[in-house]
Amino acid sequence: MSGQPCTECAVWNQPQAPFRVFGNTYYVGTHGLSSLLVTSDAGHVLLDGDLPESVPQIVAHIRRLGFRIEDVKLIVNSHVHFDHAGGIAELQRLSGARVAASEWSAAVMAKGGVGRDDPQFGVIRPIAPVARLERLRDGEIFRIGKIEITAHLTPGHTPGGTSWTWKSCEGTRCLSMVYADSLTSVSADGFQFTKSRAYPNAIPDFEKSFAFFDTVDCDILVTTHPDASSLWERFERHDFVDRIACRQLAEGAREKLRKRIAAERQ
Ligand SMILES: [Zn+2]
Repeated sequence: MSGQPCTECAVWNQPQAPFRVFGNTYYVGTHGLSSLLVTSDAGHVLLDGDLPESVPQIVAHIRRLGFRIEDVKLIVNSHVHFDHAGGIAELQRLSGARVAASEWSAAVMAKGGVGRDDPQFGVIRPIAPVARLERLRDGEIFRIGKIEITAHLTPGHTPGGTSWTWKSCEGTRCLSMVYADSLTSVSADGFQFTKSRAYPNAIPDFEKSFAFFDTVDCDILVTTHPDASSLWERFERHDFVDRIACRQLAEGAREKLRKRIAAERQ
């Protein structure tokens, strides 16, 4: 099953010069797909691998910032769709990094492809299988040098969606960083969030994820698709801090799900 051709991929993969977001957090993704590098003297964490064809850009961005792909010690992800996890197998090969993922995401990554209970099963491109996976728990903290990054299960868009929080500092100013998984209720034709047998918990899962974003400490939000949270506007003003961004993200996603549920019930 190869899914439909990806009409957005060329747009998503448009080049983007890498830049510092704050402290030891850098944007190394493409213009349309986020990938973040969090650095330490003892190795780095990479969040998301974007498309398979994004990998050369991500590697070049890391180098251009003065870091080395070989020093990436841990790769984690938001959700295992081809546009965020498609490059992970290759990035793992190039770096030798550990890859950690939620139970559900790890099961998909181990086999490659698309999860059968994924709302977009049947219409999206499969991902390449990833070797040597570690399964993570909700709330698990990963430590690489001085980095402490916490996994938060935020399912709904997929059953294994994961968001990430950590602190980045500039001098004595430390900010709460949030890498938010996609919260959009999109699906293959025929899939219904209100009565899916494959994914019966889709709606309670979304509600739990929205509640997380209502309350999380959130100084700087980066979303899997940067334009889902005005990253480029914030880039233009040279200030990424927006303390209501996480709550706004949840509110927008809640509204979208509300409309979707209403449409399914008609
Ligand atoms: Zn997705």
